[in-house]
Amino acid sequence: MSNPAVERSCPQLDVRDLHDSLNSPVSASMNFLNEVAQEYPDAVSFAAGRPFEGYFDLDDVHRYLDLYRRYLSERFDGDEAQVRRTVLQYGRTKGVIHELVAAHLAVDEGITVDAESIVVTVGCQEALYLTLRALRATPEDVLLAVSPCYVGVHGAAQLVDMPLLPVEESSTGVDLDDLAAVVHRARAEGLRPRALYLVPDFANPTGVRMSEEERLRTLRAASELGLLVLEDNPYGLLGDDGPPTMKALDTEGRVVYLGSFAKTGLPGARVGYAVADQRVIDARGGTGLLADELAKIKSMTTVNTSPIAQAVIAGKLLENGNSLRAANTRERETYRGNLRLMLDGLAARFGDGQVPGVSWNTPGGGFFLLLTVPFAASDELLEFSAGKHQVLWTPLHHFYAGSEPRNVMRLSFSHLLPAEIDEGLDRLAGFVREQTEAP
Ligand code: PMP
Repeated sequence: MSNPAVERSCPQLDVRDLHDSLNSPVSASMNFLNEVAQEYPDAVSFAAGRPFEGYFDLDDVHRYLDLYRRYLSERFDGDEAQVRRTVLQYGRTKGVIHELVAAHLAVDEGITVDAESIVVTVGCQEALYLTLRALRATPEDVLLAVSPCYVGVHGAAQLVDMPLLPVEESSTGVDLDDLAAVVHRARAEGLRPRALYLVPDFANPTGVRMSEEERLRTLRAASELGLLVLEDNPYGLLGDDGPPTMKALDTEGRVVYLGSFAKTGLPGARVGYAVADQRVIDARGGTGLLADELAKIKSMTTVNTSPIAQAVIAGKLLENGNSLRAANTRERETYRGNLRLMLDGLAARFGDGQVPGVSWNTPGGGFFLLLTVPFAASDELLEFSAGKHQVLWTPLHHFYAGSEPRNVMRLSFSHLLPAEIDEGLDRLAGFVREQTEAP
């Protein structure tokens, strides 16, 4: 029950007096999508971009913790106080499992980095935030990102008051002519483009994977244009072997690599990292690492990433010889199987022009694909689809920072069972046919 005395004295805040990001279409987007999902819990959801839960097992967590504990005990010559301190005490700002992360990057990604250039973060999202916070020094600093783009990038950029300039995608990656045009235009307007954000492996939302040539061309363009590259790679290990990461191909120290253990480790651990081995010149002419600058910001935001959560991820790394590719053999099969079911299921329901104007792309892996439909896939239609047809999807305009509805939806298939995919596609086909045939 509300207390009238408290209500009378409680100050009223106007959202317009709070930070701009709270008034933005991006935060409205996230709210709306979460609300629709909560309102229709029984709908089949092609909206949630979550890892498959079928292999989750709490017993794994105990085993991982124990493995890491034994690893530390050996490292500290049986000094159990030191072991306890490492896992249970406030910890090193840049993280305690940086050496294992470096070993994992060497084994799985062909990336050789000094462990000191790694900052272990609260998910990849924090790595992104720290990096943008550091790069946004003046109001002229802007971020470039291939559009459509992961919603969390729009959000993080807004939190640090850094405008995001969209760059056209091509069918194989970045439209490099547009990249150059956007950079030149921005500079002519007095802006300072700092970095290009991209997801070269199975991008969210498009599912596109860039070829090695495309990665090299993009690195060359970034070099010519004087841009850093922020390479975000949560999905790369969940598909077939692919081209090297841009970080592995980078010979100039141009790539800041943003990693996540949400899809390959455990999402609930909330552990990710940044590899920031760029040299930073300090006020006295000395040099340090960008990672150390990110750590200064981290010390003022999350202080350090939970060492208990890091210990869980470390145990999973130790159990698998530091290879998360090896650790995710079953998951990879599941995701590959789900993708095949989606592509076959879409072909069976929409193929050969059964429903004019419907088409889809065919990613080689990841969690997502795009379905093009002959009508604007708006928020209103999503609500209608959820209520009447019990099927959820994500309108693509949310990945363009709140622009007008488009004829495209993102379909996520990572967390579903085969029977749910089948049922969900039946429902989706019912919805799409109804919209297409509507007078
Ligand atoms: N980058 C991309 C492209 C993502 O899709 C996501 C989350 N789905 C993240 C970063 C955030 O990762 P984390 O859960 O590690 O914060």
